[in-house]
Amino acid sequence: MVTRSRANGPGCRWVLWVQGCSLRCPGCFNPQTHPVSGGRRVGVDGLFGQIAALGGDIEGVTITGGEPLEQCAGLLPLLQRIRRETPLSVLVFTGFTWEELQGRPASLPGLRPEILSYVDLLLAGRFTARPASSPGPPGLEHKSCHFLSSRYSAKDLTALAPAEAFIRLDGTILYSGLQPPRTA
Ligand code: SF4
Repeated sequence: MVTRSRANGPGCRWVLWVQGCSLRCPGCFNPQTHPVSGGRRVGVDGLFGQIAALGGDIEGVTITGGEPLEQCAGLLPLLQRIRRETPLSVLVFTGFTWEELQGRPASLPGLRPEILSYVDLLLAGRFTARPASSPGPPGLEHKSCHFLSSRYSAKDLTALAPAEAFIRLDGTILYSGLQPPRTA
């Protein structure tokens, strides 16, 4: 996770990468997040405590991965607490398409459709390395944008930073954002 990101949605955001994704998009930037056996186990109370401790330093939280909507059992109670106990916005990246989510949600592994009622902005659709066929904000050309509350609109996506870099205490670099450079 990153506590203060400026390249994962509007404003300054706390960002969580969930572990596990069954979709396997060719060219995925985060293949290390595919196995459900990886990652680090953190309880909902611990995650919420981190978010709450940031107070007014952040505008919202971003959930990415991995596939967040395959982790609804843990994610739903976290988003419920965020909605009920904070003014923070919630942005979720998913590899599922909007049509899949609307069509046969019961057939999608781990999905609980009610989770979308706690999301302000959903960026949906598989990643593809092919050139984008439709115009869109840099890094979001392959996503469809769904404004599920009045919190955001398309203009909030026009000036997003494409990427950012964090230097860890051990000297390694974490790249993050909508268009991070490929490091491997
Ligand atoms: S949905 Fe996201 S994490 Fe999963 S394979 Fe596609 S790009 Fe990678």
